[in-house]
Amino acid sequence: MKNNLLETRISSIILMTPKCDLHLHFGGIVSPRSLATAFMCKRGNEFQSFLGADRYNRYLRFTNLYNLIADGKIDNAFFSFESFENFVSSFSFINRLFDSPELLQLLANDLIGYIRQQHITYAEITLSPLLYTQNKMTTIDFFRIIVKTFNAVDINVKFIIDCAKSTPIDEAISLIDLANKELKGMLCGITLGGRNSGDLLKYIPLFNFASDIGIAKSIHLGEDSNLIGLENVISLLHLDRIAHGIGIHNSTKLMQMMIAKNIALEVCPSSNISNKLIKTPNAYFADLFKLNIPIIIGSDDPTFFKTTITKELWYVFECLHFSEKKIYELLSWAINAFK
Ligand SMILES: [Zn+2]
Repeated sequence: MKNNLLETRISSIILMTPKCDLHLHFGGIVSPRSLATAFMCKRGNEFQSFLGADRYNRYLRFTNLYNLIADGKIDNAFFSFESFENFVSSFSFINRLFDSPELLQLLANDLIGYIRQQHITYAEITLSPLLYTQNKMTTIDFFRIIVKTFNAVDINVKFIIDCAKSTPIDEAISLIDLANKELKGMLCGITLGGRNSGDLLKYIPLFNFASDIGIAKSIHLGEDSNLIGLENVISLLHLDRIAHGIGIHNSTKLMQMMIAKNIALEVCPSSNISNKLIKTPNAYFADLFKLNIPIIIGSDDPTFFKTTITKELWYVFECLHFSEKKIYELLSWAINAFK
């Protein structure tokens, strides 16, 4: 009980403190209303194939589909996962629905609302253009809508492009080249997300290109594969950051490389817990946060993992058993740093 009161009190201060969120996916914040609207623009069979005929028929029997989604009543059909694979299917299914300029705008508005509501004064937003450009929009359309939308609002964001691990190397290089031209100064990094798909060293030319244009380089690792043999990937791709990296702290060699090269680890606790990637989360994260490497806390996909950057930061304080005094010290340091 005492802890709940403490959590409520400190969470409201964390919420009001200016913050960064450096691991945040575009499309990871989708409101029930936007989701409902996107569904209404589609034929029912897409929805049916995702939910399965049985569940689909059950939902249809109840009431109007739009109201069900908008009220969050079928939340668990989309935002509850048994595995990382499960999450990737849901994320890609939902985001592919937003395939027109009008629908894309809804996702952008949801994200802008989140950034404002959470008092995020700087965000690095990961874009996966390939999800939205299969139908009515070209990749250029996509980038132009993003630039126009985010330039029109008073928030401080930059973009990381997710080329996805399954993208052929030539396509990935063209994508980064185009992003560099269209996003101009707003492009800050590259990552490879999604399902693991073989040898990452084939992306050496892509990461060399990223170095040439001066953007940061990261890869999502350890979500659906072990980290054996990654020494070459880390050094030959000249990584600046590693996203998630589940299990990395068990490898002395990888840890030494991260320390020597000052590679930061992007940590998103709720994401890893929701995808059931960690058996004993509290102990795992407590150990991780004490490592001698730079740690970046991100909220990843807040709607999917039912979280916010505020909740993620509270979790860090709790895992490290920080005293109330220490938390206030850190928060006032953060407030002063942003002044
Ligand atoms: Zn991510």
